[in-house]
Amino acid sequence: MLMKNYTNKPILYSTRQIWKLWVLYFGSFMALLILISTKWLEDSLPENLYMILMLCAFLLAIGSIIFPCVAIKCPKCQTRWFWYAVSKKSESEGIRWLFSQTKCPVCKSDFN
Ligand SMILES: [Zn+2]
Repeated sequence: MLMKNYTNKPILYSTRQIWKLWVLYFGSFMALLILISTKWLEDSLPENLYMILMLCAFLLAIGSIIFPCVAIKCPKCQTRWFWYAVSKKSESEGIRWLFSQTKCPVCKSDFN
């Protein structure tokens, strides 16, 4: 029987970059929240405020997607892991694949 070695933590944890993924989740959740409530209040809001809020939601959504792509990277070879995962693999599989990596997929550095 093959035993999995649980002392090898995924690179996102061993390099303490997991919080950057939370920026993505929290940021896009907030963007969606602003978008929905702005749309909800559309009739009672002044038109320029409505436009500003919609723009904020839009920028927040873009920012929270770009942030992990740029910020989650290998401390050694600077490979952008998140971007690497979503561009090389399919989107849903890419994230799962990234979570299963215990070494840098490019330079093979072990951060445990
Ligand atoms: Zn690396």
